[in-house]
Amino acid sequence: MIDIRNITKAYGDFVALRDVSLDIHDGELVALLGPSGSGKTTLLRIIAGLDFANAGTIRLAGENAAGLSVGERRVGFVFQHFALFRHMTVFDNVAFGLTVRSRDTRPPKAEIREKVEHLLRMVQLEGLAKRYPSQLSGGQRQRVALARALAIEPRVLLLDEPFGALDAKVRKELRRWLRHLHDELKITGVFVTHDQEEALEVADRVVVMDKGKIEQVGTPTEIYDNPASPFVYRFLGNVNSLACNIDAGHVWIGGQKLSLPQADRHVSGAGTAFVRPHELDVVRPGQGQGLSALVRHMVVLGPVVRVELEVNPGEMIEAELTRQRHAELALQSGERVVLVPRQAQVFLTDDRQYRAIDPNLNRPHVIRETGANGG
Ligand code: ADP
Ligand code: MG
Repeated sequence: MIDIRNITKAYGDFVALRDVSLDIHDGELVALLGPSGSGKTTLLRIIAGLDFANAGTIRLAGENAAGLSVGERRVGFVFQHFALFRHMTVFDNVAFGLTVRSRDTRPPKAEIREKVEHLLRMVQLEGLAKRYPSQLSGGQRQRVALARALAIEPRVLLLDEPFGALDAKVRKELRRWLRHLHDELKITGVFVTHDQEEALEVADRVVVMDKGKIEQVGTPTEIYDNPASPFVYRFLGNVNSLACNIDAGHVWIGGQKLSLPQADRHVSGAGTAFVRPHELDVVRPGQGQGLSALVRHMVVLGPVVRVELEVNPGEMIEAELTRQRHAELALQSGERVVLVPRQAQVFLTDDRQYRAIDPNLNRPHVIRETGANGG
């Protein structure tokens, strides 16, 4: 549906997008996820026709978009700061995209009324048609903005951090609601966010961006379970990274040895091992094979307990245990334990570039069940 090919965009010397290619399928909701400045808004604006690339092409439903104006592209927008018209009622705001059409393409008044009422029902704002934006909550305003974007029956809906300015609870409600609405309408949508939880919850596929480049594209599960680079690993949530040495298929972390699968026994070099806190189990010495560490601190965080441990002098790592597991263990601060990774990924360091451990697979390798009684 949206075919993005080799898009490069520079502002003077600064390259905001670097050779970006991406396919967005019909009916799909795709999240562009990345830190501030990674190029998400720039890419969205180029899709919309509000900005132009220096190189590359965008095709919308097979048609080269280069010759199409913003209106002809039939895109709907919702932006974080794309304020509603303050002097217009909710009804007039939603109707706006239709009432501004030239006389020959403008629907009759009764038809506009029916459509706006339908949209307001859909975004659960029926009854508020006569209100002004100042008489609405932030969440209601963004729903009006969404209804307004949908009024023109866009081929593509573009949302740029639409809930960014709202408080956490309203954000959470609205993203669940957006997911729902999307399932109902099956509209093709591109959703920009810097919030990993939002992307994982709302999107069919997530596009992780950094410094104007796409780092990884995949379903939320693929992205979370198999990050393609250290950047993606760190960006998608809490993770421990540990310097390590790989020697003929064994990974050495601070004097502790983990094994790589048989296929990778030839790999050697310096690297970094990544382990998520909830993928680390804590056992007593002798009860499993893994990293020796000292318990330094424990914090109860609702349903889990975060245990801070020292693997090497000054080198801290976090494990996350369920309350139950924590109670069973009855850990004491200062005691020596063994950390058993249920899963870890190792990236080789090569000229300051990270590379997958198995060059043929071109993706990081997963080490599973290294502990004898772990897991
Ligand atoms: P994001 O939406 O991911 O936060 P943007 O796409 O807005 O990032 O911006 C990407 C980079 O391009 C930023 O470093 C930003 O400063 C730069 N940039 C964006 N628009 C312009 C512009 N009109 N002129 C110069 N630099 C710009
Ligand atoms: Mg932005």
